[in-house]
Amino acid sequence: MARRDYRRRYHLVCCILSAGRVAQNKYTMNNSYCSIPWVHLRLDPSNEGSTGVSPCCKFYYEEWQRINPDNGVQNGIGNALNSAPFQQLRRDMLAGKRIKGCQNCYSDEAAGSESMRTQSNAAWKLNDLSTDYLHTKFIEVSLDNTCNLECKMCDSSFSSKLRKRDELLGLYVAPNTSIDPDLLDELDLSQVEQVKFVGGEPLLSKHHLPFLQKFPDPTQLSLLYNTNATIVPSGPTRDIMAGAKELNFIISCDGIYKYNDYQRWGSDFETIISNADAIRHSFDNIKWFTFLNTFTLLNLNNYADTVQWFGDNNLSTFSNWGEGPLSVEHAPDWYEEWILETNDSPEVREYFQSRTQRKYNPERWAAFIDLIKATDRLYGTRLEDYNPELAAQLNKHGI
Ligand code: SF4
Repeated sequence: MARRDYRRRYHLVCCILSAGRVAQNKYTMNNSYCSIPWVHLRLDPSNEGSTGVSPCCKFYYEEWQRINPDNGVQNGIGNALNSAPFQQLRRDMLAGKRIKGCQNCYSDEAAGSESMRTQSNAAWKLNDLSTDYLHTKFIEVSLDNTCNLECKMCDSSFSSKLRKRDELLGLYVAPNTSIDPDLLDELDLSQVEQVKFVGGEPLLSKHHLPFLQKFPDPTQLSLLYNTNATIVPSGPTRDIMAGAKELNFIISCDGIYKYNDYQRWGSDFETIISNADAIRHSFDNIKWFTFLNTFTLLNLNNYADTVQWFGDNNLSTFSNWGEGPLSVEHAPDWYEEWILETNDSPEVREYFQSRTQRKYNPERWAAFIDLIKATDRLYGTRLEDYNPELAAQLNKHGI
């Protein structure tokens, strides 16, 4: 059974927090060089369920699997970061060769935007590089796939709670994964500036506190959490977070009220908002705090109302666009026309055009309908009770 590309979900929430220091050196003169492979540690369960490393969240997962299928840390993180494929990647960058897996950054630059490459080159000015890993400035970690929610656009690679659903749908059922904080012991963590926690749900993970405790000086850390806001940090965890140089939060949400509750199954919109408020008031070292609303086939008709609600409540939000089975890329023409009737905006139009451009795919559309039916049976719900407009449209089109 094909494993889903679990990395894609995080492309849009990736950022270099302290970009902005202008840097020019001999390396930045070539348009392939990126400082990330010398200073970034990305730990995730990419080694078939056990801990692996990869260049960054933007790097094409399929390409990384092709060039470095054995990316595990069984012989230590240092060895994994200095494997032959990693060395070749750095050699090619120094030689100015374009890297196939870096296409996401090149596309952003071609569109006239900053890319993670240009941001990381501005953040970290490196000199006298060899093909070896240098030292760690920036860590991204998925501590485990433990989560307390069952979001419909997610899968068991990110949430252990979705195993039953994935089995029911005949999808890949991911094993429980976790990253041992002791893996960090071999590293010099004294130069780390940023740590980014992604899901599962990092604030739920039993590894969260031990991981934080590995850092000799948390006051130099900028911490970023991508959290579902079901947990408000407390105790020693809160104390370390409160002592960090700065905190940044991305609060996941999927539209407002019942639209969120249906897609982000197990959550309650009003609780997300009140917990987010509690998190915000727990710390005085927050640099930025934003919501991230993920729109998919299931809730896109709620886009305009969601943007308006967050604006009316003076809450910062940006949008994430569902990929995979719940992406609009395979929707029929009528779906796009219906959505644009009340949600016309450059962002929504761009989602329909996106990298692959929408093209009706009956098989994938049928999989979307199956997902609604199967999960309604599993959870004892009815689409019409949560998104009556979508239910009416499906009915109108004989579905
Ligand atoms: S160029 Fe982009 S995709 Fe490639 S390593 Fe750098 S940040 Fe990652």
